[in-house]
Amino acid sequence: MKISVIGAGQMGNGIAHVFAQGGHDITLIDIAQASLDKALATIAKNMDRQVAKGTLTEADKVSALGRITTGTSTAEGVKHADLVVEAATENVDLKLKIFKDIDAHAPPHGILATNTSSISITRIAAATKRPAQVIGMHFMNPVPVMKLVEVIRGYDTSDAVTGAVMELSRSIGKVPVEVNDLPGFVANRILMPMINEAIETLFQGVGGVEEIDTVMKLGMAHLMGPLQLADFIGLDTCLAILRVLHEGFQQPKYAPCPLLVQMVTAGKLGVKSGEGFYRYTPGSKDLVVAPAFAR
Ligand code: NAD
Repeated sequence: MKISVIGAGQMGNGIAHVFAQGGHDITLIDIAQASLDKALATIAKNMDRQVAKGTLTEADKVSALGRITTGTSTAEGVKHADLVVEAATENVDLKLKIFKDIDAHAPPHGILATNTSSISITRIAAATKRPAQVIGMHFMNPVPVMKLVEVIRGYDTSDAVTGAVMELSRSIGKVPVEVNDLPGFVANRILMPMINEAIETLFQGVGGVEEIDTVMKLGMAHLMGPLQLADFIGLDTCLAILRVLHEGFQQPKYAPCPLLVQMVTAGKLGVKSGEGFYRYTPGSKDLVVAPAFAR
């Protein structure tokens, strides 16, 4: 299958990785050449790790990498796509613009999927002339490791398209779960209020960063505390999702914590910017609380 992935950030590179490993031809597209270069390096590094673990052969790694081409033009990059998976920044106006563009240039049979964490599939589909072929394909981070794909049906998504996306997800070793199109779907409707509450708990001084994360790790058997997870997802992405939930349901319980808003304004986006609730130093695995929260 020819698959175009739009957006080569942390999700886009993972999506390109798993589809290339599954034998598909990938065109990875981003407006920023630097993101494309970084994505290719990340994919190669993650595949090296799989080779070291014995879950991928060196020959399969080389052929998977050889199936990925990159480009900076969406119009060019989707021209032959059987499937497009959009994984650009979580911003509704940007996604509507991208989907108009993809719809105009992808072949008529092409399925148009979005990896959005929260934005309405129905709204994105309405920006195209093929709403029956638009669907949510929500991978989890890190994509090569996490098994789940939340498959979201928009108002008009056809049974055939839903079935094809469920089957394709299974064929690359994922477990698809079909859900309906309300803000945040299932995953982020439950996860983001928890993360927001953890930030509020920090904001109110109930506990420090390490205390809050330790309570949730040891007390609730979570693999990662909510503040570390927020850094990992990206604080800008968390804020964008909370805003979609808040606007979509009009309930105060989804209002983003002022501390989250302030951190995003200050450019503290978590792992990707080098600092969020923790500080990240390239090459170091130590989890160090950011200076703003050191006690
Ligand atoms: P990111 O910030 O790491 O990457 C976004 C990329 O999109 C950047 O490389 C940027 O240059 C690119 N981009 C922006 N505008 C573009 C355009 N017009 N055309 C092509 N590329 C463009 O973000 P991310 O964490 O990879 O998130 C991407 C999507 O995946 C979002 O919709 C997000 O909600 C969703 N998602 C994120 C996570 C997570 O844990 N981060 C998990 C599941 C889903």
